[in-house]
Amino acid sequence: MLDILQIPVLNDNYIYMLHDSVSLETAVIDPALELPVLAVLAEKGWQLSFILNTHHHWDHVGANLALKQQTGCQIIAAASDRERIPGIDVAVGQGDVFALGQHQAQVIATPGHTSGHVVYYFAEDQALFCGDTLFVMGCGRLFEGTPGQMYASLQTLKALPLSTRVYCTHEYTLANAEFALSVEPDNSDLQQKLQVVTELRAAKKATVPTTIAEEIATNPFFRVDCISIQKELGLVGAAPEIVFAALRRRKDDY
Ligand code: ZN
Ligand code: FE
Repeated sequence: MLDILQIPVLNDNYIYMLHDSVSLETAVIDPALELPVLAVLAEKGWQLSFILNTHHHWDHVGANLALKQQTGCQIIAAASDRERIPGIDVAVGQGDVFALGQHQAQVIATPGHTSGHVVYYFAEDQALFCGDTLFVMGCGRLFEGTPGQMYASLQTLKALPLSTRVYCTHEYTLANAEFALSVEPDNSDLQQKLQVVTELRAAKKATVPTTIAEEIATNPFFRVDCISIQKELGLVGAAPEIVFAALRRRKDDY
């Protein structure tokens, strides 16, 4: 079994800690801060073996050097971000495999939010750690990539098995749900999901992880082929990249 712990930090970030009980190896994904990570390690009696970064933004790499210094862990991140991610030991790219004990993750390049963004997909464990590429009912802003790149990245994730659990780095769900309903008010799956996530947040619980199936049913950025969304944007029959670009622009201004 792969243990997956979710550590909420800052306003809306999640750090994920993975632990393999056979090899006793432990990894954290996108550590913004070191103290919450060290606290969980101490509580569990685990040793940090690896940091996995999805991209270079400070809220994903902030604790890299402090954790490396205190634990001697290895840092795995995109080769193309070698210059801007602190402390990289293992530079990876599309198609590379990372292993935590017997648990293997494929590295998938998902440019768009940043040019070097990668995600980690544990196929057998049915878990995807997607950083700021895909959010519950939303997707990352385009800071460095083109809409076409981000559209292609999202299509790759959309094609993963439906039951894949999707672990995003941010809790942006309520705001995303509001926007999603504004472009697709008649989507009953979306209405239902809004109810569920509203109750979760009222109880101060996480709405993450989601699943690929749920995102296909509710995430407008996965649904640019829907005629109702195309109509809303005045783009019926347009190429999906064009619809995606318009939808992303509208979200930026929302
Ligand atoms: Zn980011
Ligand atoms: Fe972020």
